[in-house]
Amino acid sequence: MTEVFSGSFTQQEPIPEDAIAAAVAVMRSGRLHRYNTAPGEMAEAAALEVDFAAFTGARYCLAVASGGAAMRIALRAAGVGQGDPVLTNAFTLAPVPGAIAAVGGVPVLVEVTEDLVIDLADLAARAQASGAHVLLLSHMRGHVCDMDALMALCARLGLRVIEDCAHTMGAAWAGVPSGRHGIAGCYSTQTYKHMNSGEGGLVVSDDADLMARMVLLSGSYMLYDRHPAAPPPEVFAGLRHQVPNISARMDNLRAAVLRPQIAALPGRVDRWARLYGAVETGLRGVPGLRLIPRPQAERFVGSSFQFLLPGRDGAWIDRFLGRCLARGVELKWFGRAEPAGFTSRHDHWRYAPPQALPRTDAVLAGLIDMRLPLTFTEADCACIARIIADEAGRDGVAEAAGRRAD
Ligand SMILES: *Cc1c(COP(=O)(O)O)cnc(C)c1O
Repeated sequence: MTEVFSGSFTQQEPIPEDAIAAAVAVMRSGRLHRYNTAPGEMAEAAALEVDFAAFTGARYCLAVASGGAAMRIALRAAGVGQGDPVLTNAFTLAPVPGAIAAVGGVPVLVEVTEDLVIDLADLAARAQASGAHVLLLSHMRGHVCDMDALMALCARLGLRVIEDCAHTMGAAWAGVPSGRHGIAGCYSTQTYKHMNSGEGGLVVSDDADLMARMVLLSGSYMLYDRHPAAPPPEVFAGLRHQVPNISARMDNLRAAVLRPQIAALPGRVDRWARLYGAVETGLRGVPGLRLIPRPQAERFVGSSFQFLLPGRDGAWIDRFLGRCLARGVELKWFGRAEPAGFTSRHDHWRYAPPQALPRTDAVLAGLIDMRLPLTFTEADCACIARIIADEAGRDGVAEAAGRRAD
């Protein structure tokens, strides 16, 4: 009998009961706005910032409305303005070049390698050619590049690094948490990321001037002294009349939903590692599939899984995806000619100048992606891998593998 998978790739776990109780308490109080506090009360949004700063080891933290808002605010606080070039990986999602465009910047896209990380040689070349001063580094789908090599290169090139950690909350490189290498780390708490408040974002930094600008940008009015995880009021003194309010605050309801999830995150990362491992074990050695190697120094969060189908043409990939879907396995293809759902190629971002990225194009042409929500079990993941392996073996894989060998 043909095996079929019946789980949902978009079903997240319920919000934990302690988070639900905290959210209900906020609603009962009526004080949902972060600056609406009773005497002596610390707002949930402020407490979240304190907790997340401690979790990442950052000096400062700001909670905002979304991951995209975190990136826009960080870019603007870092001085990016009209017409300024900003480097970013060509393999990322639309909110990343979108954040650059939103502050008037010009996305300068950098090639990615077959291991789905930024290409350092191309980064150096495009940094010099563009004259950019900022790299918005997207740890896309949780793949972390050699951060020691990257940071050394960026220091030589005079590039300031802002990290997009939408897929690396809870990850690390050589023991340093993701988001703690650059001048700022931006996280999303949207439903499909590692903590779930529907929408939401966090940004961390050790830089007092940068964080004061970010707090003002987020829409703090003159209430910045209500941010216990921000620098002291004197840092704001010279900035408070200069920095515009672009209103992207987080509210207490979302913060209450998020706070208990911080303590749960390490346990989630362990569970994701087991799910990822089950898929990887099931797909290892399957002819025609290239798995993405994960370096020893990388502690990654296995909330999604990618593999490449080198040498396959679009028609074959379409048929393969259709066969997998018919058996309940919903895969996404980043190289699709027209964007579908959240897939995207750089040439779909027509607000950025067209750029030649042949290596990235070759990678995306065969790049397949799937989510691994924590509602899956290891047995589910083994089943998914069996279906993919089975379907990859149809339609002439043996001949294609033979051709590559000679
Ligand atoms: C989701 C996502 C973002 C933006 O997060 P939002 O909270 O949805 O604005 C940024 N970068 C990547 C890679 C993402 O997947």
